[in-house]
Amino acid sequence: MALYVQKFGGTSVADPERISEVVDHVRRTVARGDQVVMVVSAMGKETDELLRLANAVSSVRPGREMDMLITAGERKAVALVAMALHGAGIPADSFTGSQAGIITDTTHENARIEEVMADRIKESLATGSVPVVAGSQGMSTDKEVTFLGRGGSDTTAVALAHRLGADACELYTDVSGVFTTDPRLVADARKMTHLSFDELLEMTACGCPKPAMRSVEYAHRHGVALHIRSAFTWEQGTWVNEETSMERAIVTAVVHDMSEAKVTISRVADEPGIAARLFRTLADEDVNVDMIVQNVSSEGVTDISFTVPMSQLDGAVAAANGLEIGQVSSDDAIGKVSLIGAGMKSNPGVAAQMFETLAEAGINIEMLSTSGIRISSIVDANRTEDAVALLHAAFELSRPVS
Ligand code: ADP
Ligand code: ASP
Ligand code: MG
Repeated sequence: MALYVQKFGGTSVADPERISEVVDHVRRTVARGDQVVMVVSAMGKETDELLRLANAVSSVRPGREMDMLITAGERKAVALVAMALHGAGIPADSFTGSQAGIITDTTHENARIEEVMADRIKESLATGSVPVVAGSQGMSTDKEVTFLGRGGSDTTAVALAHRLGADACELYTDVSGVFTTDPRLVADARKMTHLSFDELLEMTACGCPKPAMRSVEYAHRHGVALHIRSAFTWEQGTWVNEETSMERAIVTAVVHDMSEAKVTISRVADEPGIAARLFRTLADEDVNVDMIVQNVSSEGVTDISFTVPMSQLDGAVAAANGLEIGQVSSDDAIGKVSLIGAGMKSNPGVAAQMFETLAEAGINIEMLSTSGIRISSIVDANRTEDAVALLHAAFELSRPVS
């Protein structure tokens, strides 16, 4: 008898018809003699709607009240899913994150899991029921309701799978797995059957929305095998585990991210301590700096550019202006395109081919950064989608690898 944690995203439980398909799938798993713990997200776009309501009632949005509001979406979903299971003759118990024993830190709207007790989940399983747990929520160490942040249901599922020693953590979504690039942008993007944690972590850090990055970190740290798959077609999806990737390609995927903006400080004195002051100030303001580029100086002055999340741009510009070290300008019309692949380490020429592909299409590279298994370029926002499609074709990522 195997134990599966099965997590269903918003689109998978968007309406009563979808819920009944999910129930049917769980029924088949249980009929095989396996045990299931379900983790469920808020239905459809409900989380967005709750955030919209919060904006509509007040510009003052205390974190405690925001979490009380947002977690209502998942609470509604688990009750409905549990009822639908009962209707299909499957005993089920719904649980809030708090009832499931998910203990978090005290950060509202983006809490981190500190401990998972799961006593009531084990009791529910022992009675032959299917526990249905509200995703992305818990109770903080000071006993407040907390939300784990957008996409946090994936993390709930991974944390429960680890605590319960599940055989696999299945993340059901609206696509059939992790693709070589965003399937919304490139029609011949290919579903990967297997992916290493290192590659998936790099992909999620560079803008791939699925699965949520924190859940991949948690799974990697605790060795939880992930299976990302479709709640529409039920076909085998993408397996992620400790094994090295079976895919032998040098480049595995192209990922893009439209959520960053660029800040440039020009005519900065080229002397020790300036960068230290700048980035210390930004760190103290909790600004998450991603790429950094400093030009070669001429006549004792230089330019420093860096990227930050769009949501932190105003704060970053204000902090940089406050230092009076140079002229501050910003650009929010940028996109980041990243090539990811474990085989890059030992294969020279990937960067050259990336730059040639972009150059041939007249796409200017504004900034660059690399890691052992990644090359990222900042390009014009309007050319980002072209860059993704061209790189996907240039590296022949739609071709199956043997
Ligand atoms: P869920 O609500 O099920 O947790 P999300 O809506 O957060 O799922 O993320 C799923 C979406 O991520 C898919 O619809 C897909 O369009 C998008 N996506 C972007 N890049 C990729 C990729 N490389 N592989 C798979 N999906 C991707
Ligand atoms: N419902 C939340 C969101 O939309 C949490 C989740 O789905 O993981 O982000
Ligand atoms: Mg989602």
